[in-house]
Amino acid sequence: MLPSVELYNALNKAQGNNMLAELQQIYDKLPQTTCNNCASCCNWGSPPAFFIEYLNMYKYVRDNMKEQWGEVLTRSAEYFYLELVDVNQKCPFVGPDNRCSIYQVRPLSCRIYGLLAKSDFEKGDLNQGLKFIASKLWDEYQIKVPSEIANSELKWCGNVKNPTGKHLKMDVLVSATSEVAKIDARFFPENLVDQEGTSLPYPVHLMNTVLGDGARARKIKIMKEFADQGTKTMLAPILKKANNFEF
Ligand code: SF4
Ligand code: SF4
Repeated sequence: MLPSVELYNALNKAQGNNMLAELQQIYDKLPQTTCNNCASCCNWGSPPAFFIEYLNMYKYVRDNMKEQWGEVLTRSAEYFYLELVDVNQKCPFVGPDNRCSIYQVRPLSCRIYGLLAKSDFEKGDLNQGLKFIASKLWDEYQIKVPSEIANSELKWCGNVKNPTGKHLKMDVLVSATSEVAKIDARFFPENLVDQEGTSLPYPVHLMNTVLGDGARARKIKIMKEFADQGTKTMLAPILKKANNFEF
């Protein structure tokens, strides 16, 4: 788990040192994309985001989405606890119209999705990762991950268009990822960024800010209750508390 960093100190540091502008410059080097907005990728789950990207998202939601704070918090808390046991969980930022409510600050993983050639995209091994986690949850806690989740696969998307008409070269992606990781290394020890990574889904980053250690430690019990009985009794008071958080 990422060591906790006091959120507002980190945000002040990021703004005072132009880190959010640096992040935007990295994003701006990638081609703009269009697609048919089917939201299959967003329904699959919330992709990983670096810590500096989380700060960028947090600031955006704080400054521009006050009316939606409650919805963002409730959906993010549900996602944090239930993403592996509830087949209905999806990225908390995808709307009923399939649009991304934080499109301007979506993370690098969303920006590059569909830009790589199929052969490069398929070098990743997302599906094996889910199968491994499902097997571990069963062996250690007897939590049954539904087969729809354990066997789900984020497929390559061929419907993404960009003005260059070409796929992104792998080295461009590696370079962009490494530049963002270097910004994170100004918050965390470099060996942690390199070896363990600072990349987590936005809802997980957000719940690390919003919830205390005790609430987060109840994750396994909450998952088990939902997996065994389909109920959210233990989760309900945590959702209520998360909902009251002020950005
Ligand atoms: S990138 Fe592909 S899967 Fe995702 S919304 Fe666009 S068309 Fe659908
Ligand atoms: S952040 Fe936006 S683009 Fe990325 S998965 Fe979520 S809804 Fe989709």
